[in-house]
Amino acid sequence: MITVSHVSKTFPATRRNEAVHAVDDVSLHVERGQVMGIVGPSGSGKSTLARCLNLLERPDQGSVVIDNQELTTLEGAQLNRARRRIGMIFQQFNLLDSRTALGNVELPLELAGTGRAERRARATALLERVGLGDKLHHHPAQLSGGQRQRVAIARALAPSPSVLLCDEATSALDSVSTDSVLALIRELTEELGLTTVLITHEMDVVKKVCDAVILLEGGRVVDRGLISEVLSRPDSPLATRLLPPLS
Ligand code: ADP
Ligand code: MG
Repeated sequence: MITVSHVSKTFPATRRNEAVHAVDDVSLHVERGQVMGIVGPSGSGKSTLARCLNLLERPDQGSVVIDNQELTTLEGAQLNRARRRIGMIFQQFNLLDSRTALGNVELPLELAGTGRAERRARATALLERVGLGDKLHHHPAQLSGGQRQRVAIARALAPSPSVLLCDEATSALDSVSTDSVLALIRELTEELGLTTVLITHEMDVVKKVCDAVILLEGGRVVDRGLISEVLSRPDSPLATRLLPPLS
């Protein structure tokens, strides 16, 4: 479903900073229906890689193919259409404070030109599905962190994407909300036939919900594998992070 081949992204030097090779020759493949974890220390290039997947950041080199469509060659309206097939959620939710839950979820449908009645029906159904049927008219300030992330998930799913990118989506949540939001992401992946990329620095999250995982360091993939397979190599870089230290 997602094939990234030799993608690199360098941020050029400025007067104050040297050039940063944020993503350095990364290749990866995610099967349809899989949840793929991307882990790595802060600054290892996780967010830049995610942004390269939906061309929010244009790679300097390499290709991104999603559902048999090469994105790196697209521009303008074609690129916008392709982007609608990729939903994204963030640590800080990025909701509009001035809009209700319903208004936030309707926004991408408004931008896509969907008619009012259809917009309203779809946004309502999605908010019900994420457990917020009784909060349709609440503003973000009236919702908890977990509820705000559920609104963001509903908004990301409104255009019926085939891919869901989650960048540290649970990092601002307490452990109870984290567990329920992750369970929801896992359920929705299966129910809607999504392919999901989950960026996190929490190893528990990876073990709980991911099928496969990639470890980034300095913009490069330094280890990868199916969770079960990684755990069977106890000395591997990923296993040493995923397994509790021996005492
Ligand atoms: P992570 O999400 O793993 O913490 P990022 O992808 O945000 O890492 O950042 C990777 C590297 O790229 C870091 O060194 C960061 O400072 C740099 N970087 C990210 N975005 C930009 C940008 N827009 N301009 C310059 N440097 C950037
Ligand atoms: Mg990041």
